[in-house]
Amino acid sequence: MRTFFGFCVVGLACVASYACSSSDSTTIPGTSSGGTSSGGSSANSAGTAGSTVAGSTSNAGANAAGSASVAGSSSGGATSAGAGGVASGGAGGITAGGAGGTSSGGAGAGGGTPSSSAFKIDSVATWRGNATAAYSIIHDDVCDDSAMGVFSIGGPALKQHGLHAGFGVIVGECKPASDTSVNRWPDVKTLIADGNDIFSHSWSHPCIDGDPKNPPDACPAPPDAVYSSDMATELGKAGDELKAQTGVSLDFFIFPYDYCAPAAITYLKGKGYLGARCGIGDGIPTNPSNYSDPFNVLYEVFGPAYSYYWNDGACKGKISQYNTEPYDLGDGSKYPFAPAACITHIMSQYVDDTIAAKGWGIREFHGFHPVDDAMGAFEPISAADYGAHLDYIKGKQDAGSLWVEGPTPVLRYRFAREACGQPTVTGGNTLHFAAPSADCKKYGTVVSYLISTTDSSDPATLKVQQGGQFLPAKKLSAGHFVVDANPTAGDAVLVQ
Ligand SMILES: [Zn+2]
Repeated sequence: MRTFFGFCVVGLACVASYACSSSDSTTIPGTSSGGTSSGGSSANSAGTAGSTVAGSTSNAGANAAGSASVAGSSSGGATSAGAGGVASGGAGGITAGGAGGTSSGGAGAGGGTPSSSAFKIDSVATWRGNATAAYSIIHDDVCDDSAMGVFSIGGPALKQHGLHAGFGVIVGECKPASDTSVNRWPDVKTLIADGNDIFSHSWSHPCIDGDPKNPPDACPAPPDAVYSSDMATELGKAGDELKAQTGVSLDFFIFPYDYCAPAAITYLKGKGYLGARCGIGDGIPTNPSNYSDPFNVLYEVFGPAYSYYWNDGACKGKISQYNTEPYDLGDGSKYPFAPAACITHIMSQYVDDTIAAKGWGIREFHGFHPVDDAMGAFEPISAADYGAHLDYIKGKQDAGSLWVEGPTPVLRYRFAREACGQPTVTGGNTLHFAAPSADCKKYGTVVSYLISTTDSSDPATLKVQQGGQFLPAKKLSAGHFVVDANPTAGDAVLVQ
């Protein structure tokens, strides 16, 4: 029966929700901040918020999750760990901040000297760090037997590359009542501690609110899929349990089989979710930078037979749609498996097209080949091809053309960009934020602003100090910078 879970058939995806915090702090270089700006945003939940906060940062954050006090104390003069925690409030802040936090915090610990230059705001960057486009990897079916490679291969590979991804959890499979020897929550928490975006993919992976007598295109007919309209279990209970076990906030959702019934979307909205992966587009499945419906987020499915690019480039004429397998999965498929060049093509072409569109792309993966093959993994990716893909997107990120992050931070950014408006500059060097609107708080996250000097100066270095935290600033050209700040976290000072 596990294989049923494994299937995310035909262009269907899988998504979930997450603590806002993670997104907020990811890019802070050189600081070990625990809490960063997450506090200001909506999502924090008590208890596990600590891990969430931790997850948001890159390395130190991870430590904070597991052992908050260590991170806090070590941060001493270093930076912001403590201060961040305090400032961010919420349980997470307190946990992460811990001992070290409170003491080290004091404004300006370590210190920023306010910049002597005078600045003005030019615009809000379309994507974090002024990247050309945004890109999210999502692994579906987490906790299912058919996707165990996400823990053993996916998570470690992402960590090695310094990248984050999204993981959609089949919540009822993490500690199934049917097998008390299984408990995958520790593995899920490791992903969170490493800064990844974790969200719900339902309780038991049914075709939610589909009609089994008239199956929607996205869902296999019975008995190859289970059907359920029990949203209290599949959406409500799944989210409650995920939050209880991990502390993530319930922001994003990915539908089993990528079948998103209107009633299910209505239910999620009623629960306060911010968005879902469930869109079907007409062309290249990249979300435009100004896409309007957060519950209609487009995505591109691996492998080749389910890809938008299945008959394009090196795949042309080589793939039988919905039939060709990415590799020899040992299940006796009568179709030759996909050429290596085809796999490379679909992976890189979607990234390239997303950058060209300056939008947001989502790559849907499931488990890994060959470790998950025998358990019926849906279109598993090999560790080698996965690593090559991470190399590719890391290169694009380093070049400034891609912001790689889980879907929740990207979704938050897209709407915070507009909901929060722009700060004003006071005193030449302080970004002053008006009291955030309800929508700004709802989507609140770190936003990147394009600024420039008004006095023809060209400071050699610049960073942002906000709430005892340091956030990044990057020089774009003489006197022009992109700087990060959280519009829900109070004024931010530009420091040398
Ligand atoms: Zn799935």
